[in-house]
Amino acid sequence: MAGLPSTARVVIIGGGAVGVSALYHLAKAGWTDCVLLEKNELTSGSTWHAAGNVPTFSSSWSLMNMQRYSTELYRGLATAVDYPMNYHVTGSIRLAHTRERMREFQRAKGMGRYQGMAIDVIGADEIKARYPFIETHDLLGALYDPNDGDIDPAQLTQALAKGARDMGAKIVRFCPVTGAQRDNGEWVLTTPEGEIRCDYVVNAAGYRAREVGKLFGRDVPMMVMSHQYILFDEIPELAAWTKEVGHKLPLLRDVDTSYYLRQEKSGMNLGPYERNCRAHWATHDDPMPEDFSFQLFPDDLERLEWYLSDAVARVPILGTAGVSKVINGPIPYAPDGNPLLGPMPGVPNAFEACVFTFGIAQAGGAGKVLAEWVTEGATEWDMWSCDPRRFTSFAAAPDYSVAKGMEIYGHEYAIHFPRHAWPAGRNRKLSPIHDRIAALGAQFNAYNGWERATWYAKPGDDISEEATQTFDRDGPWQKRIREECLAVRDAAGILDLPGFSRYRVEGEGARAWLSTLITGVVPKPGRIGLGYFADDHGRIVTEMSIMALGEDFFFLITASVAELHDLEWLEKHLPQGTRISVKNVTDAFACQILSGPNARAILADVTDADLSQPWLTHQSCRIAGRWCQLVRVSFAGELGWEIHTKVEDTAAIFDAVWAAGQRHGLRPFGMFALDSLRLEKGYRAWKQDLSTDYTILQGGLERFVKWDKPAFKGKAALQNEKQQGVRKRFATLVIDNPGPCDAPYMSTVWHDGAIVGETLSGGWGHRVDKSIALGMVRADLAEPGAKVEIEIFGERFAATVQKDEPLWDPHNERLKG
Ligand SMILES: Cc1cc2nc3c(=O)[nH]c(=O)nc-3n(C[C@H](O)[C@H](O)[C@H](O)COP(=O)(O)OP(=O)(O)OC[C@H]3O[C@@H](n4cnc5c(N)ncnc54)[C@H](O)[C@@H]3O)c2cc1C
Repeated sequence: MAGLPSTARVVIIGGGAVGVSALYHLAKAGWTDCVLLEKNELTSGSTWHAAGNVPTFSSSWSLMNMQRYSTELYRGLATAVDYPMNYHVTGSIRLAHTRERMREFQRAKGMGRYQGMAIDVIGADEIKARYPFIETHDLLGALYDPNDGDIDPAQLTQALAKGARDMGAKIVRFCPVTGAQRDNGEWVLTTPEGEIRCDYVVNAAGYRAREVGKLFGRDVPMMVMSHQYILFDEIPELAAWTKEVGHKLPLLRDVDTSYYLRQEKSGMNLGPYERNCRAHWATHDDPMPEDFSFQLFPDDLERLEWYLSDAVARVPILGTAGVSKVINGPIPYAPDGNPLLGPMPGVPNAFEACVFTFGIAQAGGAGKVLAEWVTEGATEWDMWSCDPRRFTSFAAAPDYSVAKGMEIYGHEYAIHFPRHAWPAGRNRKLSPIHDRIAALGAQFNAYNGWERATWYAKPGDDISEEATQTFDRDGPWQKRIREECLAVRDAAGILDLPGFSRYRVEGEGARAWLSTLITGVVPKPGRIGLGYFADDHGRIVTEMSIMALGEDFFFLITASVAELHDLEWLEKHLPQGTRISVKNVTDAFACQILSGPNARAILADVTDADLSQPWLTHQSCRIAGRWCQLVRVSFAGELGWEIHTKVEDTAAIFDAVWAAGQRHGLRPFGMFALDSLRLEKGYRAWKQDLSTDYTILQGGLERFVKWDKPAFKGKAALQNEKQQGVRKRFATLVIDNPGPCDAPYMSTVWHDGAIVGETLSGGWGHRVDKSIALGMVRADLAEPGAKVEIEIFGERFAATVQKDEPLWDPHNERLKG
């Protein structure tokens, strides 16, 4: 066993598949002075007992990317590091029982093809041809993924460990990290073997990540489920078939029923994600033991009985085999089921690569991503879906993590529909007027824990969860969303928007400093403007509204879910010894959007503010005797104001505006209507249209670039890109003859039989009566009138590229009115 070095550039805590892959990728990037510390033996956490399935399927672009990368890495790894291992690329068949499932598969096929994978949708005959033992009478089809397979997780980990060691990285086993301190800008980690100093630290402690996080003062949002698979004895019929054809069956996933079934030698392995699932170590009387290395939970087959009988009906030869073994092990879950991979929120030079539920399939890609975070401070692909900063402090509450973890586990294979609100872990953060808007018919969903109205139902509308199980545009909500949009167009609408993230930035030099961070102009006092923050590659890091209250005094406002991400970006770029302060004041303020041609008349009834002040200005005033900041902007694209108030004044101000509005046709509107309204204006949504996958120029944001500023972050890269020519560009597309669905994220855009781009946001614009998609297309096609096709759930629809201006009110006359 290697002894503990006294220093290292990076220390990784945890030697499962993910931690070792991180070490391997750091070493590959030339960072060989890295040490991995493992409490017990490598793989002794969740890795040793994992089934080792390696799917590429995901409905998330970034997760699919990470899994695709893993499969490519694993195929060549044995040779690359000279460590033989069992990796069977068998392909997989994912069964569809419903039309919506087929749509999900069509979308995955499109995304997979865009990533260079030959994923395909197949019919019953082909299912049977590939899997002769299956009953297909009740199936609509399946997704065939030729890259799927299974790997031996221990061998994978050992192979990565060998590769890392061969490059000079070190692994110290039986060396738990028990303490962490910051000293002189370095981390000092305590272990029974002594101390080790390092520049960077990575929490890769799997299901023990919460415990390790505590050493750094970080409360990791996670919980632990017990997950089982059943191994069956040899099935002679299967053995004979395998011998005859010379290969294994493809892996089978009955996702509507919720299990996978894999051939294991001549037997089978059945792994359900059961609804009646069980959390472990979730209550005070069930603490996580000090050591659980290489241990399992007792079998609990009763929970799986229903799934077993369903699998036997699907593949009857399974019924002929006896159970040989049950594996029941711990598997960690974050509240959305995705891993925590990226900067550790609020902790300097610390990262997380933990809480993986598919850590074998994702280890390869995760190692690449983690190494990029550490060595470059940024990743090649936008990895917001896995970024630990996507959860703010409320999400770490154990009851929340447990409720969400159980919900996700029980719906591991569920389809994520655009109008569906998952019910667990709700009502965490309520606006002071929650009950008032609920009484008006508000249907809610959680945005960073804040309950916001999505649409307003009327008596008799179907508000059931079942109704939302569709990708169709139409549903009980559609008529109401239309009414809400048209009220905003013709009269006025009010939307309660709790939880906007907000930072108070002030101090000598604040203006000059902000100017180095954004690509454009910092607004003058009394004005508000959008600031785009680029990284050194010119890529879009974030967008914030900058409200200038004085020469060196600002409020920066950003998306609710961006709270920790954007704060960290600001704090990270504060100059040494500065007098500028950045304070997170998110929890102190609230916001209501009032928009529509009658907005001025409504406000005139409740305030003596100067309502003639132009667009992009702001002023302090009083409504119902309470202070508020009236900000003349509208994400809905009509005459309007945002009313920013103290949280405790929300109700008084809402009541006053609501009462005054009754004479002017005021009605409440929700987030679905707002999304439709902003699409018509071409306004980008955070991490949907705005992400590090694109540069500022690709994002069509050059009008926010002030080239003659002396310096700003990303300037050199953007200048270079402009000189070379931008290869793809943001465009608004309108579908010529729309079908039943609008374009979901990452629908491919075609031209002349080739893929030329992708959509980012799609939806129906009720003011223009069109199906709109915001997306990226090859630069030569980003011209008004260019004809393309958008593939929506497998069907291609002709679409037309629009002028580079809003579809609704192109010259902003209504906004400025
Ligand atoms: C029954 C079952 C089947 C599964 N099947 C699959 C599958 O088919 N495909 C798939 O992709 N995933 C599967 N998983 C999930 C998979 O096992 C995990 O996602 C994966 O193993 C996580 O790897 P990891 O490296 O993040 O964590 P782990 O393997 O848990 O490693 C974490 C390591 O950190 C160490 N550690 C903890 N605390 C400290 C400390 N203080 N100091 C030093 N070291 C510490 C632990 O000892 C452990 O070795 C399955 C899980 C279960 C339970």
